[in-house]
Amino acid sequence: MTVTTRFAPAPTGRLHVGNIRTALHNWLWARKRGGRFILRLDDTDAERSTEDHVEAIRADLAWLGLMPDEEHRQSARFDRYDTALERLRESGRAYPAYETAQELDLKRKVLLGRGKPPVYDRAALNLKPEEIARLEAEGRRPHWRFKLDHGAAIEWHDLVRGPQHFDPALLSDPVIRREDASWLYMLPSTVDDIDMGVTHVVRGEDHVTNTALQIQMFEALGAPPPAFAHEALLVGSEGKLSKRLGSLGVEAMREAGIESAALVAKLARIGTSLPVEPFATPEPLIESFDFATFGRAPARFDMEELAALNARIVHQLEYSAVKDRLPASMGEEAWAVIRPNLRAVAEAAEWWQIVEGPVEHRASAGDRAFVAAAADVAATIDWAEAPWKALATTLKERSGRSGKSLFLPLRQALTGRDSGPEMAPLLLLIGQEQSVARLRAAAA
Ligand code: GLU
Repeated sequence: MTVTTRFAPAPTGRLHVGNIRTALHNWLWARKRGGRFILRLDDTDAERSTEDHVEAIRADLAWLGLMPDEEHRQSARFDRYDTALERLRESGRAYPAYETAQELDLKRKVLLGRGKPPVYDRAALNLKPEEIARLEAEGRRPHWRFKLDHGAAIEWHDLVRGPQHFDPALLSDPVIRREDASWLYMLPSTVDDIDMGVTHVVRGEDHVTNTALQIQMFEALGAPPPAFAHEALLVGSEGKLSKRLGSLGVEAMREAGIESAALVAKLARIGTSLPVEPFATPEPLIESFDFATFGRAPARFDMEELAALNARIVHQLEYSAVKDRLPASMGEEAWAVIRPNLRAVAEAAEWWQIVEGPVEHRASAGDRAFVAAAADVAATIDWAEAPWKALATTLKERSGRSGKSLFLPLRQALTGRDSGPEMAPLLLLIGQEQSVARLRAAAA
């Protein structure tokens, strides 16, 4: 059987770190097993789903390198859901119910008040045909519920959580279709998983109870349930996923200079027993992917750690991979020198501006003589041999200066700034001629 996974976002918003992680795990598992990775757009909610979000989801997945092998949309499959409901109705596994939201709410409150679980009492199953006729005559339309089989416990072996056990009598028969005929998520998802041959459902642990219900739907529709893997949720470094972090999407990551490879390397491994490593390509992640390494504790996502991982990935990027994002005149050699100093590719532009100039040559009155001496030294040292070190050492000996009084005037004269990239690699790029010229101009 071809391993088939699916990522099923509702196109009602942008992807964020939480669902990007789910998408990634589905993709990694399919790639590892040479299977299929499906993008399924859960767009049954016509009001909240938009084409803009559909396109953004596609673009975000493409940026991450998680290309789906197939794409499906629930809005194109309503006839399949109609057929499935009809089948369940015929076999007595779906029934109409007429309670209003207020009536249901009241029932729940009464049960909770008596200290009982708020399970739907199945009153609708006892409606006589004439009662139904009266309700319909009043203009009431039914919603539809799936009738759980209370005969046996629902059990499955979750690939992350291990053996799972639910007593169906403690669960409400789920509503599968609203009275306005719109679909809730539960049945369409099951029908799609059957039709698309999904073998592994990988999703967040907030879906565990849904799985118990859906397992009975698979069975009622005559299909073996797929394997399930429910991953622990993502939390921020302070313990819960802050609003900001929860909404952090691809755009925000890109703006923060995060490479897609860094996000992928991080999200693939956090919450697992495998170390987070700076992989610039997904192959090692595919290779090592294993549900058995997933922990049950929430996975911690920390933006600072991601930034640090990002730096380690930037340091591996080839010139050809970043060329389009560098200043046009910046060549391969410059990239090689600058790369180890960057936390994000975009920082290269700042370096390059300092290298290329023009810079504002400046030295305070008290530093002019020192900077003039620096120009003389710079003109004579061997530029092929660590020129910054040679310059600083010689000047330290001659002037007796050290620390800030030694380095700051040099930085100001050479770059026009008080802070910035490390001077040693920078000086190599600025070159001897330019360096001498800048020091002289500042001393003048
Ligand atoms: N649209 C559902 C969600 O985003 C899909 C859940 C599933 O993977 O079945 O929660």
